[in-house]
Amino acid sequence: MTNAPGRPATAGILNGPFQAVILSAAQNLCICLSFLLVLALAAPAQKPAPAPAVSGQAIDALTQQFLAVAPRRFNGSPGHLAAEKFIKDHFKPEAAKGNFIIDEFTANTPAGLQTMRNYIVRYPGKAPRPGETPGIIVLASHYETNYPLRDIAFYGANDGACTTALLIELGAYFRTHPPEGYSIWLVFDDGEEAVRQWSDSDSLYGTRHLAAKWYADGTLKRIKAFIVADMIGDKDLNILEEMGSTPWLRGVFRQAAANTHHAAYVFQTQGEEEDDHLPFLRRGVPSLDVIDVDYGPHTAATPDGYHHTAQDTIDKISPKSLQISADLFLETIRLINATH
Ligand SMILES: [Zn+2]
Repeated sequence: MTNAPGRPATAGILNGPFQAVILSAAQNLCICLSFLLVLALAAPAQKPAPAPAVSGQAIDALTQQFLAVAPRRFNGSPGHLAAEKFIKDHFKPEAAKGNFIIDEFTANTPAGLQTMRNYIVRYPGKAPRPGETPGIIVLASHYETNYPLRDIAFYGANDGACTTALLIELGAYFRTHPPEGYSIWLVFDDGEEAVRQWSDSDSLYGTRHLAAKWYADGTLKRIKAFIVADMIGDKDLNILEEMGSTPWLRGVFRQAAANTHHAAYVFQTQGEEEDDHLPFLRRGVPSLDVIDVDYGPHTAATPDGYHHTAQDTIDKISPKSLQISADLFLETIRLINATH
């Protein structure tokens, strides 16, 4: 509910049936005051706004912790191993239930063979009817940093780190609030970035591998939506409408933005992006890339702003943007369950 500009939030109480009551009561000051007193007593006490289901502040803090142990996370580095341990350590309860899966594979890259690992965390949903298996909503983020940027201080606070933290916090939420409908699977994917230069064969290693694997074993047919989170901690949040993404999912996301009062941050610009949703989209899975590509000031020296530069650091993201992103993801999941 949004108030019209300049109108006090309580104006609505004098509309409709109340208005007539007020007018007649005004003939007698005493009755009027008593009436207003009753109204005041009946009004709910001022309470602080309820805490959000998933906290942007907590995601920001977790991003800082992740960057402290794994600042540079390119393939083969100690930081890459530390990032994997960080993810693993946050899902011990799921691992104990057999719902934490390590998907290791060898990628043939321009820099030679590299061992990569995707991590999948499953929160089982409820079957629509006995004996049936619920569909799956997948939320994905890459966690590694770029191999070609291994010689600079590239931390990817926005590009990989904060969305890893977002998924970990969403996982903590689903641990205590198990999905009532579709299952929720988190995917922490490796090798999203190019190892030398972006091309169809030199990019998206982890999601290409996973899409092929899930096609072969039949999992792909159960996926209702594959949703990618990328670079959405940006202080100046402006989520692109990625026009290659599945139209009905874009519609759901736009509705989620309206429902959460975050429409100002969503789909003000349109464009096309190659990202982790593509391998799934290309295999017919409804897919959505939630990305803010407009990151930092664009100058002659840095035409892409902070993107893929040493400037992509924790001070360029904000708890507020992470709160918006978390709200949008939770509402999108709710809407997919309600409408599809
Ligand atoms: Zn990147």
